[in-house]
Amino acid sequence: MLLTITTTRPPATDLGYLLHKHPDKCQSFDLSFGYAHVFYPEATNRCCTAALLLDVDPIGMVRNRRGPKGDRGTLDQYVNDRPYVASSFLSVAIARVYGTALGGRCKDRPELINRSLPLEVRIAVLPCRGGETVLRSLFEPLGYEIESHRHTLDAKFSDWGESPYYTVALRATRPLKELLAHLYVLIPVLDNDKHYWVGDDEVEKLLRFGAGWLAGHPAREQITQRYLKHQPSLARQAIARMISEESPDIDILDEAFDRQEETVEETISLNEQRLGTVLSVLESSGAGRILDLGCGEGKLLRELVKDKRFTEIVGLDVSHRALERASHRLKLDRLPAVQRERIKLVHGSLMYRDRRLEGFDAATVVEVIEHLDPPRLASFERVLFEFARPGLVVVTTPNREYNVMWETLPAGSLRHQDHRFEWTRDEFQTWAAGIGDRFGYGVRFLPVGREDATVGSPTQMGVFSRVV
Ligand code: SAH
Repeated sequence: MLLTITTTRPPATDLGYLLHKHPDKCQSFDLSFGYAHVFYPEATNRCCTAALLLDVDPIGMVRNRRGPKGDRGTLDQYVNDRPYVASSFLSVAIARVYGTALGGRCKDRPELINRSLPLEVRIAVLPCRGGETVLRSLFEPLGYEIESHRHTLDAKFSDWGESPYYTVALRATRPLKELLAHLYVLIPVLDNDKHYWVGDDEVEKLLRFGAGWLAGHPAREQITQRYLKHQPSLARQAIARMISEESPDIDILDEAFDRQEETVEETISLNEQRLGTVLSVLESSGAGRILDLGCGEGKLLRELVKDKRFTEIVGLDVSHRALERASHRLKLDRLPAVQRERIKLVHGSLMYRDRRLEGFDAATVVEVIEHLDPPRLASFERVLFEFARPGLVVVTTPNREYNVMWETLPAGSLRHQDHRFEWTRDEFQTWAAGIGDRFGYGVRFLPVGREDATVGSPTQMGVFSRVV
């Protein structure tokens, strides 16, 4: 795997200062997955090229048990494209070998750090999942001129067709540190390898190296999703941070994940059917004072305000950003005073007892429990069924059995990156029956969405009625 960076601005050998690598030397670095070598095929006043040659050692990686445990077939561990293509390993190598430049430091010539240089990057083999369109959609908005050449799968067998591998040249005039940050983030995004191994601090890295350009990038969602993809634990970490720091950046991730779930489910506009079923249960119960717990952007709240039978409506969520969006969606600042008094948005967590939640006729918990960590479900159960204790509780959650019906969802996947679990009908009903016994609620179950004879409906609903 070869990455070259060339500049033609004299004195071009300044590139050596910026990269902290002397043009006259060939240096090697031992990385946990192989070796990186840096050398300069050309270093003159007019043109200077630094080459980073990455020698990934798949055997060593298996021996060292690098990467996710147990989810690779044995052969795939040894025979794969990793040694030959630009992947997250190249990003790791950039950070290790060019870390000073990536971090925007230059001891000897600090004036070079922010200087725009004419730069050309060549990547010998770049896997572009989604083809040239994706390649362009990632780099063009950042001002790169792109030249790419796609390789056939095998020159001897042309009918095998094209491969996802490209030789790519990118040209732009900009500070080197920016170029390195773009490569660091976007190479693994293009590769989109579901097996790529990333450390626990990947969210931090994305936010750090995406600073200043990712938030405004038109493909922001796709970049974020692909970068953190297949690592639900990272999404979990991101959400945990959101809860503790309420960092707006993390909310961006959440939005992206929401969109992903919507894409999976949209074919049957499941969301509308879910809201319709919740509303009809509430209406027929005669409840007037309603809590919407984990209200998100306020889709249900918007329907509730339209109906005068609901005299007091409270939406609660742990995410400030979701509440802001709900407030916007509900046009709270423009509601007439009478309406305005009926609805309130409150910030809070379902993990903690909250007196503001007491004394309501009904509570809805729509597509929320699957976002809670299983060990913390017990806290939620007590907060809602023991302390808040509304007369009626409506809980909806995905039915995992139904996932096989969606072509866009890879086998075994959950519908949303932040889902900690998705239950079968049996699992949900056992959980709900346990709650009924412990807290004195009767429970009935309703399917939501088109029901399949074998796997049931996409969403499952439990309606709990307080017995005493
Ligand atoms: N009920 C909404 C949103 C579902 S998404 C709808 O159907 O559209 C799940 C929501 O639960 C998110 O808005 C998330 O911020 C919220 N949430 C997650 N953990 C929470 C907690 N501990 N307390 C309160 N809300 C929480």
